[in-house]
Amino acid sequence: MEKAQASSATSAQWAPSSWRTKTAHQQPRYEDPMALADVESQLATLPPLVFAEETRQLRRQLAQVAQGNAFLLQGGDCAESFVDFSADSIRDTFKVILQMAIVLTYAGRKPVVKVGRIAGQFAKPRSSDVEVRDGLELPSFRGDIVNGSEFTPDAREVDPQRMLRAYHQSTATLNLLRAFAHGGLADLHQVNGWNLGFVSGHESCEQYQALAHEIRDALSFMEVLGINSDNTPVLRETDLYTSHEALLLNYEEALTRRDSLSGQWYNCAAHMLWIGERTRQLDAAHVEYMRGIHNPIGVKIGPSITPSELLSLIEALNPNNEAGRLTLITRMGADTLGEKLPALARAVTEEGCQVVWSSDPMHGNTVKAGNGFKTRSFDRILLEIQQFFGVLRAEGAHPGGIHLEMTGQRVTECVGGSYRVSEGDLAKRYETQCDPRLNADQVLEMAFNVSELLR
Ligand code: PEP
Ligand code: MN
Repeated sequence: MEKAQASSATSAQWAPSSWRTKTAHQQPRYEDPMALADVESQLATLPPLVFAEETRQLRRQLAQVAQGNAFLLQGGDCAESFVDFSADSIRDTFKVILQMAIVLTYAGRKPVVKVGRIAGQFAKPRSSDVEVRDGLELPSFRGDIVNGSEFTPDAREVDPQRMLRAYHQSTATLNLLRAFAHGGLADLHQVNGWNLGFVSGHESCEQYQALAHEIRDALSFMEVLGINSDNTPVLRETDLYTSHEALLLNYEEALTRRDSLSGQWYNCAAHMLWIGERTRQLDAAHVEYMRGIHNPIGVKIGPSITPSELLSLIEALNPNNEAGRLTLITRMGADTLGEKLPALARAVTEEGCQVVWSSDPMHGNTVKAGNGFKTRSFDRILLEIQQFFGVLRAEGAHPGGIHLEMTGQRVTECVGGSYRVSEGDLAKRYETQCDPRLNADQVLEMAFNVSELLR
């Protein structure tokens, strides 16, 4: 009772702009306050991208994940780009998320909740405010919503107009995703046939082919019983939710709207938002903003957090302990997770906190290859996921999901996998705006490996 009163007292003081009274880390320095205010007021009048009821639906599905009755698959680019923006790349990301989800649904016998890092994933935190190359010092690239990635003074200039471009690109992306989800591309019969290229020619081939055949047999069996795409919408349609890191608070505030039904505040730029590892300080601006919106939210949990810091963060972000509200996204590194996660999981379980545990196996496993490329190895990524499952099960908690940086394109950014992308291959198609992503083949191979953990 006391707890509920305390939390409603703090929420009463919340407003979409109350973060401005706190320290906001990782923000660009806009030189012209008038130009910034002008963009903010334009954004504030533009239509919402998502509706409150959709985010409530996602929240209910995430509550099922928290209770161990469903699995969360979240993935997409590290950073979306203004330049590499095309229907084909959106389609390919959509396809690969869907195909991965089908493998996981079939193996785990549980619904898979699909959330893209897409239609708004533009802002990036950086380890330094400046970048130096050949003696020239320029502001760091902070994502296309802030400045340009090219290493020139012009490109690196921070420009608030970019927020409008990011908004419009997000609306176009979401529009296409909605069409794909409900316009036939998601038909299960098609999905099972896509992109099995990677299975031919390596030792696990037979096992992978067998699973694809099992799914095909199940579909044929249903067909015989008269259950088909024409009469059964779940076989031809799907839901793909959107998410991004809520980093650039000027943008997020402008897209925060009061729902007319419930009177509650929602961020209408994405269904789900998360707080990054670098901006989760309890007394700072990002936690302040996120505690007041009613979307489902995530928070990245790196190796430096202590159990008591984690419990305070959970109390601030989910004071009423509602399942589906909060996803803890661990990103520790394959070497560190086994050491750090047990105490955190134990504290959360002992306290009775309702959370989704999800594994981001990407951000703790980034290394520099001999030839200078930032990369990640397929085996280390898989190892972190395996350890995540092992630790949480040993602690009596549900390993609820995975969070991947991935693309439907045939890039060469992460090494390993059955196609054996080597360090020497990295230069061939290294296209990411920021961090290295799993390519379509690697994602699917990861899905088959994760499905072994779900069986
Ligand atoms: C990211 O998800 O791209 C990211 C920057 O992650 P983290 O906050 O965990 O470092
Ligand atoms: Mn990243």
